[in-house]
Amino acid sequence: MPAGGAMTRGPRILLRQIREALGGAGAGATPAQDRLNMVVRIIARSMVAEVCSIYLRRASGELELFATEGLNPDAVHNTRLRPGEGLVGEVARMAQPISLSDAPSHPAFSYRPETGEDPYHAFLGAPLLRGGRAIGVLVVQNRTERRYDEEEVEDIQTIAMVLSETVASGELLAQDELRDVELAPHRPERLKGQKFADGLAFGRVVLHEAPLAPERLLSDDPAMEEARLKLALATLKTGLDVMLDKGQGLAGPSFEVLETYRMFADDRGWNRSLEEAVRNGLTAEAAVDRVRNEHRARFAQARDPYIRERLHDFEDLANRLLRVLAGDKPGERELPDDAILVARNLGPADLLEYPRDKLKGLLLEEGSAASHAAIVARALQIPCVGRLMGLRDRLSEGDIVIADGETGEAYLRPRPDMLEAVQSRMAVRDQRRAEFAQLRDTPAVTLDGQRISLLTNAGLAVDLENLKETGAEGIGLFRTEFQFMVSDELPRLDAQTALYKLVLDAAGDRPVTFRTLDIGGDKVLPYLEAEREENPALGRRAIRLGLDRPSLLRMQLRALLAAGAGRELRVMFPMIATVDEFRAARELVDVECAWARRRGRALPALLRVGAMVECPSLLWHLDALLPLTDFVSIGTNDLFQYMYAADRTNPLVSDRYDPLSPPTLRALQTIQKACADTGTPVSICGELAGRPLEAFALITLGFTRLSAPAGGVGPVKRMILSADLTAARRGMTNLLNLSTGSVRNEIESLARKLNVSV
Ligand code: PEP
Ligand code: MG
Repeated sequence: MPAGGAMTRGPRILLRQIREALGGAGAGATPAQDRLNMVVRIIARSMVAEVCSIYLRRASGELELFATEGLNPDAVHNTRLRPGEGLVGEVARMAQPISLSDAPSHPAFSYRPETGEDPYHAFLGAPLLRGGRAIGVLVVQNRTERRYDEEEVEDIQTIAMVLSETVASGELLAQDELRDVELAPHRPERLKGQKFADGLAFGRVVLHEAPLAPERLLSDDPAMEEARLKLALATLKTGLDVMLDKGQGLAGPSFEVLETYRMFADDRGWNRSLEEAVRNGLTAEAAVDRVRNEHRARFAQARDPYIRERLHDFEDLANRLLRVLAGDKPGERELPDDAILVARNLGPADLLEYPRDKLKGLLLEEGSAASHAAIVARALQIPCVGRLMGLRDRLSEGDIVIADGETGEAYLRPRPDMLEAVQSRMAVRDQRRAEFAQLRDTPAVTLDGQRISLLTNAGLAVDLENLKETGAEGIGLFRTEFQFMVSDELPRLDAQTALYKLVLDAAGDRPVTFRTLDIGGDKVLPYLEAEREENPALGRRAIRLGLDRPSLLRMQLRALLAAGAGRELRVMFPMIATVDEFRAARELVDVECAWARRRGRALPALLRVGAMVECPSLLWHLDALLPLTDFVSIGTNDLFQYMYAADRTNPLVSDRYDPLSPPTLRALQTIQKACADTGTPVSICGELAGRPLEAFALITLGFTRLSAPAGGVGPVKRMILSADLTAARRGMTNLLNLSTGSVRNEIESLARKLNVSV
């Protein structure tokens, strides 16, 4: 055949013919095999090829010949290639087209006599891609040793895309014929990740920012489609420029990611592939989908984290483009009642946008246990597993999945026996929870009579129910920023006041410690203009922002004072690094009290103002700080990240140290002693306080006030009731002087020796 002579009429006409063969009049009555045979015939004719074959992947991984024009018809459904076998297997494995002028001389060529393919030399195969995986292969072959040109390779990919969509939609073959064909991953799989939030749940996968699937594949008017694509690309780029100009790095994707998106948006190869696909007859949406699938397939096997990261960026960009094409109508998403949210990574605000009653678990490809999304998951008491490599590629929306926050694993599409096992473990957990509920009204007193105040951390309205359920003695840390994070605009004074009142009413006689806004780091407010910072965790976070923008902090203090009128109000400031900051913050409280007084407003009956100790600098200035404060609370999440210079949100470094180490425990001991010497009430409100083993170490060091996430209150109380502090202290003394980086094992042995329930 003449080189370059294929598809002279362009793939659009061919695509139309394929559609007609599949869905045209009378097609419904035609048996599936006949329709497939018709499709391969049309493709062979149009591409001037002597052979055209379709292979589909069976669940076993084998590629089965489903239809052929030109090869021996008896080979259909009989020829099966093992994964990676032959050139067809190679196309599927690499998820990329292969074009050869002399196939038999290629080392991967596998001779199958039953097919009668010996006379054919030229070979062009393209994968049928779904979600970045090859579900089959489309092949054309010619007798002569010829090279297929670039255009033909492009064409066969377009045809392959239309075929794969048609196969997957069930239009081509009835579902029972496809039962065993692997359209999407459907085998059970287990992925090992890390525990971010305890718990156990199973349910249906909901993909955060689920990729939009094109509704229509073929266009009626390629010129119009091209114009739509160009307009969408221009809108996408302008949108990115605006975000970059506004320095919107703090809200949503980081500045660097935006810059990468912007660079990719200009990528010539990407733009060209999109335009070609549209000219070939695809809709703009289908073109984006096709190019995205090819990218995904190409990079899916990359181990290099940098390349994988870029792949994610490209995917996000494609998704943005699809949203632009869809007219950007995000709308509220309908969630199933048993939703397990799956995301690459998530900000705490994203998580809070999902309806709490339907969200049963959270699975992340990345993330870190100390991030605020993980903290929110703990507050919501849903299991969260993170760092699950390759998770999103292995799941489809609606798959059943188990989120095992006990072991840090995810089970994808579990077998029935696995589900049963999980259900029985969930029953055991329920029973344990019932036991903890029985302890609800039992005071937390150690065996040797030390009373411990067990409080809970909160920040959401749902936490108020937890307060009742857990029997915590109060709220040791109310994260006020959560209200700001779930709202689309700055909450007004009355909205703030109303929430604080609600919290105080729900707590009744139990104390509540409100922490003023802790924004910055991984907590971002899209409506609050913020400058881009290289190191947000070391940036203008929390009280620094409050002091720089006193109107914001004053409004919050005004709301707190109003809500606390006539009762006890406890307020503390986050991220205090210098005593001057605390003085300045406290002065604002005085200013607001004076303001209220001038207007004859009632003030709290008792006002206590405290500082969070979470910046290491304070450890060497406690003598100056403590006389100024009514109480302090130690935020170990931040204190340790700053002590170890390890960003709590960066998975590469966040768990490089053990919070049970001589340096951390000595730091805590220093604070505890200074507070005891000055009679300053001190509590611990980091996540540490909610884990029995860690809490055991804390009470042994002499801490008597712990504020834990709701799920930790019961287990920590059980630990307290079983502990003999006098004996534990004797054992602990030496551990602080050990020269190892971690003393976890030693503390665990000590607890076991003393029969403490950790
Ligand atoms: C902490 O840092 O330990 C803390 C309790 O505050 P947050 O986790 O909200 O930063
Ligand atoms: Mg903190």
